[in-house]
Amino acid sequence: MKNSGKKAKHVRKSIATRWLLHGLGFFVLVIIVAIVALSFSINTYIYDSVESAIRGRSDEMVSNFSFRMDKSTALENTLRDYVRNFIDDGELEVTAFSVYGDAIASTSGMSNISYDGFEDMEKAMYDSDNFGNFVGFNEYGEKVMAITRIVRDKEGKALGAVRYVTSLEKADKMITQAITLLIGVGLVITVFLALSGVFFIRSIVIPVKQISEGAKTISRGNFNVRLTKKTDDEIGNLVDTVNDMAAELGNSEKLKNEFISSVSHELRTPLTSIKGWAETLASAEVDEETFKKGMRVISKESERLSGLVEELLDFSRLQNGKLVMNMVKMDLLAELDEVVFAFTDRSRAENKKLIYNEPDVLPYIKGDSNRIRQVLVNLLDNAFKYTKEGGDITVTAYSEKGMVYIKVTDTGIGIAEKDLPNIKKKFYKVNTMIKGSGIGLAVSDEIINIHGGSLAVESIYGTGTTVTVTLPGM
Ligand code: ADP
Repeated sequence: MKNSGKKAKHVRKSIATRWLLHGLGFFVLVIIVAIVALSFSINTYIYDSVESAIRGRSDEMVSNFSFRMDKSTALENTLRDYVRNFIDDGELEVTAFSVYGDAIASTSGMSNISYDGFEDMEKAMYDSDNFGNFVGFNEYGEKVMAITRIVRDKEGKALGAVRYVTSLEKADKMITQAITLLIGVGLVITVFLALSGVFFIRSIVIPVKQISEGAKTISRGNFNVRLTKKTDDEIGNLVDTVNDMAAELGNSEKLKNEFISSVSHELRTPLTSIKGWAETLASAEVDEETFKKGMRVISKESERLSGLVEELLDFSRLQNGKLVMNMVKMDLLAELDEVVFAFTDRSRAENKKLIYNEPDVLPYIKGDSNRIRQVLVNLLDNAFKYTKEGGDITVTAYSEKGMVYIKVTDTGIGIAEKDLPNIKKKFYKVNTMIKGSGIGLAVSDEIINIHGGSLAVESIYGTGTTVTVTLPGM
């Protein structure tokens, strides 16, 4: 117990830490992956849209001029016109190049631009669609997208080229904004998850800590502690269970204390008597009559003591699971006959009528005859003990469908309904003032259970009690 107590204090990984590592950690990872993937998609999407817009314009240009592309000189003029008349919103710079790589015209007005190994133009030369693109930085350090379209005649001879360049600043700004928005949403989700997680964990951890504190107090022996149930959920159930456990422990503790005091009392009574008589017999001159009476009392009381000690030993064996049975084929009827016969003297002496409905036959059973006898004695002893003078004690035995039934009925004080469920519990006594250890029925019940049978108690308070033992016949 102490060891586990120490272990409990060393919480290596609290629920909160575990959740942070496994739960939140996983979600944050998923969010990061989602943001990265979405950012890539957005980037690709925006660049692709810019490219396809330019491609559209270049397609338009090629289809407009294809029927005129027979003479390079005429085409040069056409291209020059195209550039001059290019309706542009100021974002697209268009330059027309001759076959020799000289700029013929440009919307930027810089006609001195000449081909010096543009990557997009290189690509376009070898592309089946006469199309080449380039994303990178221009000579001013500005990020641009450049697209070149080679214009060819019907035979496929290059006649010139048109190059479109647009700044990617706006597109990049849009992408940055979108990514910032994504990160913002990701952060909000993470904060929301963290807060709701912390709130949820606190709603578990705090009550669990309180329950743990309460359980510690109970384990120190304070069984009157009761935890307050705040929620009607699993935690609430746990609170109920701990409270029930405390009540049960308190009850057991009370029963145990009563048991110790009643057993001590029962041990003391015969001892006082034995001691008194021993002193009397030793000290004074006693006549033979008194001597014999004294010796009888001493012998009877010693027997009572040894009976009680035997009962206690049985009980301790039962607790340790060491109540061994010597199971053999036994004649239950013979055993019952003997036990009933042994009580005839008592019935006469106490003026209680003992009625025995003896069956003609009773199946044999597999059992330990000493233990079965012990149970029968205990039941008859209880019946006598709790029945007033003039009352009846009836023993009935019969068999039915392979089972053997023995009923001990009395017209005694009976047992109240509220005590009935506890009667077979160890140490339980309805009246602590009446002699008895309160373990007789508990031991009897266990013995009968080991024999594969059952022991049932029915009673009406003030009217009488019937105890039925059911055992499987052979
Ligand atoms: P005890 O040694 O106290 O009799 P038992 O375990 O045999 O212990 O019985 C437990 C309690 O059950 C008794 O204290 C008594 O209150 C009640 N009891 C048992 N048998 C009877 C009975 N025949 N009539 C009334 N009460 C009974």
